Formats: sequence, C-alpha cells, structure tokens
Amino acid sequence: MFKQFIANSGILIAGFYLISKFLPYTIHKQSPLHMRLLAGAFCGLLSLVLMFFSIPLEHGVIADLRHIPLVIISYYGGMPSALAAGMMMGAGRFLFGNVSASITSFFISLIIAIGCGLMSRSLKQHLLMTTFWMNVYSMCFISLALFINVRDPDIYIETLFVLWPISIVSTYIAAHICKDIRQSKEMLQHYKTWATTDFLTGLYNVRQFHTLLHENMAQVKKKNGCLSLILFDIDRFKSINDLYGHDGGDIILRELGELVRSITPKHGLAFRNGGEEFSFLLPSCEQGAFQFAEQLRTTIEHHPFLLQKQTVHITISIGISIFPTLAANEADLFKQADIALYEAKKQGRNRTVMYKKEYLHET
Ligand code: GH3
Ligand code: MG
Ligand code: MG
Repeated sequence: MFKQFIANSGILIAGFYLISKFLPYTIHKQSPLHMRLLAGAFCGLLSLVLMFFSIPLEHGVIADLRHIPLVIISYYGGMPSALAAGMMMGAGRFLFGNVSASITSFFISLIIAIGCGLMSRSLKQHLLMTTFWMNVYSMCFISLALFINVRDPDIYIETLFVLWPISIVSTYIAAHICKDIRQSKEMLQHYKTWATTDFLTGLYNVRQFHTLLHENMAQVKKKNGCLSLILFDIDRFKSINDLYGHDGGDIILRELGELVRSITPKHGLAFRNGGEEFSFLLPSCEQGAFQFAEQLRTTIEHHPFLLQKQTVHITISIGISIFPTLAANEADLFKQADIALYEAKKQGRNRTVMYKKEYLHET
C-alpha cells in the first residue's frame, strides 16, 4: 500500500507538471472561461489516471486520490474549473464498471465540485488552508460513499484511519508542488516579458525589434509580399526635457507608448528602439505604409499630452523604407528608413519621407 501511495503521489506531480506544460499560462480566477474549463478538464483526466492506479487497502477495499486534482484546480480556477473537473471525474468513473457505484460516484463528484467551487470564492486566498478545508469537505463525501459500499463497521473505520491521513498529506504535497510549478512558470513569463519589452512604454524593445524584423522578413520572402519599416523620432524633444525636466519627458514617452499601441494595426508591430525613437513593422507596400505613417503623424500632432497641468503638443518626423521594393535586406531596410528620417528632419520636421536613392548621397 505504501508503494502505491508513493506511485500515486508521483502520478499527481507528473500530471500537474504536464498540465502546466499544456496550458499556455497559469490559471487564475481572471483567466478566460475556456481556459479555466480546459484546466478543469485536464485535472479531471488526471483524476481518471489516479483511479486507474488506485491504492488497495486492507480487506479488499480500494481507495484513490482522484479528488486532489479537483481540489487544487478549484482553488486556482474557481467554479468553472471545479465543475469541469467534477464532470470529467464523475463521468470517467463509468469506465471502471459497476453502474450503481458509478452513479453514486457521479453525484458525489458533482457535490464535491460545487462545494470546492463555492469554497474557492468564500475562503480567503491562503493556498494551504483553503485546499486543506476543500480536502476535508471532499473526504466527508468520499467517506459517505465508502460507508455505502463497505458494510463492515470495523473495516470501514480502519479504512478511514488510513485514507484520511493519506489524503491530507497528498493534498499538502500537491498544493506545494503546484505552487512551485506555477512560480517557475510565472517567473519565466516575467523574464520573457522583461527581455522583450521596453520598461517605460510597454512596447517591444530594440532586442525584440531585431528578432521580429528577422522573422517577418523570412515570412514576407515566402509570401512574396512587402514589409515596411516606419521609423519615427520626436521633434525637438530636448526642449521638452529642458522645460519639464527628464521626468516630464518620461511622462510624454509613456503616454506616447499608449497612443502608439492604440493605433497599431492588427498585423503591425510597434517598438521603442531607444530614447525617443520608435518604429513600426507593417506587412504593407509603399502606399499603405505612407498612409498609415501620415495617420500616425497627424494623430500624434493633435494629441493633447497633459504635463504639470498644462497641455503639451509634440510632433514627429517619419522615415520609411520597404522590403523588397526599396531595400534588398534587413540591414538596408533599417539604413534606408534612418536616412529617410534624417531627410524628414532636414526638410523641416513634422513630416513623412519615403526613402529615395538620392537621399543616400546627401547624408
Ligand atoms: P530632433 O530629433 O528634432 O532633431 O531634436 P531632439 O531634441 O529630439 O534631438 P534628439 O533626437 O537628438 O535628442 C533626443 C533627446 O531625447 C536627448 C535626450 O535628452 C532625450 N531622451 C532620450 N531618451 C530619453 C528618455 O528615456 N527619457 C527622457 N525624458 N528623455 C530622453
Ligand atoms: Mg528627436
Ligand atoms: Mg533622437
């Protein structure tokens, strides 16, 4: 029996690890409904595996830890996850034969799921405490089911003496392991975000610019389409810093980031390449890119930035280059957009310039 208990704990740990691998991000009560249902269904499947590797106790009584995945996912995903896991667990019991025991088990699974779902709402956030009480609640109904199936009172009491401690210890271990798995996953997600986004504006950073430029270039080559690079720089930003201080300048940059994000087209990507220089990658050719750039320029020109209770207006200069019509490769694309931006500054700022060969000789 002890061996089986260890094996079941191993299945629980491996199961939770696999579920966390299948789900794109950690589940919590604000996750989309379909993700909470999916996580619940996965935990229901894990319950079925646990039923398959059940623990034989004394006197031919068989027990398992099927309710533990339900308890854990109820804590994180709330009622929808609890119900999905409960339905799966209850329905799955029919695979193991004995129709009348399966019907009892189905209703008990649902009662456990509803109770755990409600407890996840009403009990406060503490993981170990909440899962402990969810387990106690589940074990009360599991004990009731055993009472119906195990007629001999001595065997029944003996069974409960073994099953309750196993269940409490397993829930404690499972809750700890899930917490660790989630923490590592969340940490990885944080590091990924830190590595790819600009801390001030939340846009992609320059490192991600090079990665995504490379990826998009490869896609465009395959599809024989266009990739436009729209590079822009705030006009006379130094004077904003001089007037309102560096912090004031940062407020403008942050708000500009939000504005840029709100007007980024569905298939476009927006970056802060550094300082007060930003860019867009769009899957469009000359006309589409120019139109978008002009819309961007006028939107920013008319946007009232609020700084120290004053309304501030800024303008930007934009340089564009297009692959493959103007630029032959990644390096060219960036160089040409930069030259066009320089030309826009030279022509008097607050304008959009598409790269032309003659600008090359002027720089
Ligand atoms: P123009 O581009 O029109 O030629 O003039 P400019 O005054 O904007 O000149 P430039 O682009 O060369 O100067 C960039 C200025 O932006 C210099 C620097 O003080 C400021 N800057 C760069 N990064 C930041 C930042 O993260 N926060 C703030 N507040 N200012 C920054
Ligand atoms: Mg500037
Ligand atoms: Mg600059």
